[in-house]
Amino acid sequence: MASDEPFSEKLRVPEALTFDDVLLRPKESRVEPDDADMATRVSTNVTLNIPVLSAAMDTVTEAELAIEMAREGGLGVLHRNMTVEETAEHVETVKRADELIIRDVVTASPEQTVREVDRMMGKEGVSGAPVVDDDDVVLGIISGTDIRPYLEVGDRDEVREAMTDEVITAGEDVTAREALELMYEHKIERVPIVDEEERLTGLVTMQGILARREYDNAARASDGSLVVGVAVGPFETDRALAADEAGADIVFIDCAHAHNLDVIDSAREIKTQVDADVVVGNVGTREAAEAIVDFADGIKVGIGPGSICTTRVVSGSGMPQITAVAEVADVATQHDVPVIADGGIRYSGDAIKAIAAGADAVMLGSYFAGTDEAPGRVITMNGKRYKQYRGMGSVGAMKSGGGDRYLKDDPEDEEYVPEGVEAATPYKGSLESELHQLVGGMQSGMGYVGAETIPEFKERSEFVRVSSAGQTESHAHDVVITDEAPNYSPDN
Ligand code: 5GP
Repeated sequence: MASDEPFSEKLRVPEALTFDDVLLRPKESRVEPDDADMATRVSTNVTLNIPVLSAAMDTVTEAELAIEMAREGGLGVLHRNMTVEETAEHVETVKRADELIIRDVVTASPEQTVREVDRMMGKEGVSGAPVVDDDDVVLGIISGTDIRPYLEVGDRDEVREAMTDEVITAGEDVTAREALELMYEHKIERVPIVDEEERLTGLVTMQGILARREYDNAARASDGSLVVGVAVGPFETDRALAADEAGADIVFIDCAHAHNLDVIDSAREIKTQVDADVVVGNVGTREAAEAIVDFADGIKVGIGPGSICTTRVVSGSGMPQITAVAEVADVATQHDVPVIADGGIRYSGDAIKAIAAGADAVMLGSYFAGTDEAPGRVITMNGKRYKQYRGMGSVGAMKSGGGDRYLKDDPEDEEYVPEGVEAATPYKGSLESELHQLVGGMQSGMGYVGAETIPEFKERSEFVRVSSAGQTESHAHDVVITDEAPNYSPDN
């Protein structure tokens, strides 16, 4: 008679599940998907308006993509395959992007000639400049319209003769609304910001205010700047300090196996040295979560689910992602620490399943690597357009310096044991439209479950287990797809 008893105790093993193994059980609902509020806490002190992060990979997140992510309400996490100085520059670029008060103001001096200033403004790409003396005291303002040839000013005249000397200025505490009111009242487009001694400290422009208004769902820090995260190696205190100094909102301890006790010791130490929140990852088990939950501001989950990742086949180790997220969330929720599900998300349905399993937000790499804002150029193969996408543990990424995430600490050793591949991903166009599809699909999932907010959805959602026949049924089947859908491809 056949028995279910295993041959050995070693084979009495638990089952772990991933995205395709489960579906959300539909529930009674009055929630229209558009009304689902996607705001979420991603770390102790950082709240996003959409629960989405872009991966810290050198083919995904640099300043350009991080700016767009934050403008859309999410968070970009800058990769660390660059020098520490470059990390600080990228953080500063994001922080300056939508600033109300511009700090590196192009100024003119009263003795310059009109011609010199005209050239300078053209080169710097600005259409006006405050005129300041040697102590930075504002004397006037000069703009393109002051120096057009039809006016009574010659090329060689001094700026002091051409400038407007009745300048409307404001103090450091000016709000966007107050600045705009000044601009309308005085029919001007820029307001210099001055200290008590009338010295220039910044500039507010109409163009800047209008740009900020366009992004009304942006994720911003309390000072109004866009939020940004930075990946640092577990022992890279210098990068963590530089990122913190430059204004990063979250430092991500970026490690393939954060349940390594040396990594935890170092992360704990870094946490004491920075003002930014510190998110620790990646982990995939309850025990790992317990080891970091007392000091981490967020926990990132994912051992081997990534699309370009070969960790599980190379090392034989890993955790299917739905189980990993659920285990970690069981621990993290008790301590009110947010959880981020990192890797393996191919569709919006996977993203909302990760949240149902207990994540507060999701991180994606391949989904964004094909967008215009990701680094790298578009390549054409067999008439189709692609962008490069590679694992940070791939040979290529390790050769350019990013290998220590995968325990590669001797840069001289050329014989890598990679845990990722180099690939190409279809070109997708703008990040904005990718996010629209991703978030729209997630909202739809919230509608099916009848939850209006992320915390409510986490509470209310339930899974059903899906058989392999059920998986086949879930995908488009028994048809030949004639037109590509913007949010579905059968070979994802
Ligand atoms: P994706 O969204 O493409 O499925 O997964 C992105 C995630 O894969 C990243 O955020 C990171 O956690 C992980 N990852 C990136 N590069 C590698 C790699 O080379 N090997 C492994 N094991 N994981 C990687």
